[in-house]
Amino acid sequence: MYTMNTGKEITEPAYAKINLGLDIVGRRSDGYHLLRMVMQTLSLHDTVTVRASEGASGIRTVTDSDLVPDDSHNLAFRAAGLLAEKYHIDEGIEIGIRKRIPVAAGLAGGSSDAAAVLKAMNRLFNLGLDVKELQRLGLSLGADVPYCIEGGTRLSEGIGEILTPVVPELKGLSVLLIKPDRGVSTKEVYEAFDTSDDVWHPDTEGIIRAIRSGDMPALGRLLGNSLEAVTVRKVPEISRIKGFLKEKGAQGVLMSGSGPTVFAIDDGTELLEKIYNEAKEYFPGYEVILTGTQG
Ligand code: ATP
Repeated sequence: MYTMNTGKEITEPAYAKINLGLDIVGRRSDGYHLLRMVMQTLSLHDTVTVRASEGASGIRTVTDSDLVPDDSHNLAFRAAGLLAEKYHIDEGIEIGIRKRIPVAAGLAGGSSDAAAVLKAMNRLFNLGLDVKELQRLGLSLGADVPYCIEGGTRLSEGIGEILTPVVPELKGLSVLLIKPDRGVSTKEVYEAFDTSDDVWHPDTEGIIRAIRSGDMPALGRLLGNSLEAVTVRKVPEISRIKGFLKEKGAQGVLMSGSGPTVFAIDDGTELLEKIYNEAKEYFPGYEVILTGTQG
């Protein structure tokens, strides 16, 4: 049973993530990929507001983006549906999403919005779920949802349900994001990966060691993503962006998640600020965002 905080609304930030490492180590018999990902939360975030309205029914999603569905295809909508069904919530639920995270970009925008809805509804309806329970529910929505519920610097394994903190966390770093003027479907990228025979694995242990010892040059060298070669074939602009960033002197450069966003990470602000200004001119129509690691 639940009790509702009437007339209340809860607002949660939904943070973007990047992958400092993404390795695919196997496949389960049910088709799910077994992953080893080093994840990092960024300050860049959507803002998700959940409101309960007594006397109304159903779930409604309102966003300020044309690129995001406002029906049951929205992962935030599905998160609300999951809790509403499990806890027999029959008040109307209104979800507002102020979208800032680029869509279909490899930055876990949808997963993070879903995680924010789970957290907000837990408070709004006094469901009393702890983080582990929220993560277990979230996993059915997507591999990145359990991670998005806790955030930080984490090793994510299994199908995204085994999370291990990497300490000390990567705080206060600058991150530049450049996304070509088209997205890519995560599903398509994984399907292409499954039929590809050039499988490459990043050195996940090395990445974690570099983070632990604060060795930024080593981290820059070791960043790696098993999906990059596959996505590059679909979106060649990724290679162009990587080439541009490296030519401008950025050291740590990689495609995030299933792409096509490319990021550069640095422990100073000056270089990436300069490249940010140049990239806006050089890549008209692309999304160019200067942010940082959260925390
Ligand atoms: P990931 O990094 O987890 O693979 P992504 O960043 O590549 O995710 P999303 O931005 O989550 O991709 O969007 C993927 C697709 O999901 C989009 O094409 C969009 O239509 C749909 N979608 C559903 N709900 C949302 C949401 N709340 N925000 C953004 N996209 C959403």
